Amino acid sequence: MGLLIYLNGKLVPEKEAKVSIFDHGLLYGDGVFEGIRGYNGRIWKLDEHLSRLYNSAKAIMLEVPLNFYDLKNAIVQTVRANKLKDSYIRVVVTRGAGDLGLDPSKCRVPTLFIIAGTIQLYPEVLYEKGLDVVTVGTKRNLTESVSPSIKSLNYLNNILAKIEANNAGAAEGLMLNHLGYVSECTGENIFTVRNNSLYTPPVYAGVLEGVTRNIVKEIAAGIGLKVVEKNMTRHDIFTADECFLTGTAAEIVPVVSLDKRIIGTGKPGETTKRIRKEFSFLTREEGVPVYE
Ligand code: PMP
Repeated sequence: MGLLIYLNGKLVPEKEAKVSIFDHGLLYGDGVFEGIRGYNGRIWKLDEHLSRLYNSAKAIMLEVPLNFYDLKNAIVQTVRANKLKDSYIRVVVTRGAGDLGLDPSKCRVPTLFIIAGTIQLYPEVLYEKGLDVVTVGTKRNLTESVSPSIKSLNYLNNILAKIEANNAGAAEGLMLNHLGYVSECTGENIFTVRNNSLYTPPVYAGVLEGVTRNIVKEIAAGIGLKVVEKNMTRHDIFTADECFLTGTAAEIVPVVSLDKRIIGTGKPGETTKRIRKEFSFLTREEGVPVYE
């Protein structure tokens, strides 16, 4: 059977969804993307994801072929065509086909595709037990080079870090920035809990401004936690009461050790569990309806 894919204005069976081998998304990682979730027949935080997509595209001077409204519609149509209630949606815009040189001005028409499928990033048991994380040697990209604020197709920085985490047998890798401060994990933002406060590194520490990160900050404030953005060191994580990661695919996942230092009790903390509960309630109640 396979999925129906939105490709440059049409829904096509996945076997027919093909892009040129001269596409600079493939040749150079020249493009941007978003990962979005659908829950319970709705699309979660669609506007927030699309704003970030347009901002990423603007930063690399790439024109998204559809306007905000039409792109939103195309996403809803793609989820509907695949009859999905819960989904993981990938929206990709590439520079399009060019020649073998890297000059983007040779690529005249951007490529846009939307995949609506499903995802399970971590097995359920890891949500119950928590993750063991290691710090990796690969530093997060410099903001002045390839800004981590751009969700670009150029993910080698994160992939190199993931390879290191895999080699160490860890579920995730913590990336520091060039100054040695904590930035984020390979595909998730990081938070700690200490006393009655929630801490996370600021965007200028070299992190993607996660949609899940932002909603978690709101949830935390709503349950009476003080939310603090500040530069953090590994020491701050070793000595925290609780730690967790956030991301669209992973949602909220507890971390129970960093570099073999047990965090808190070594079990997912009460505040983490509370935030997870609130988050899962919201994802089931809110969002852009697909079938109305
Ligand atoms: N950081 C990185 C590097 C990411 O790729 C992602 C998304 N997978 C995140 C953080 C989390 O962002 P969001 O909550 O918007 O998915």
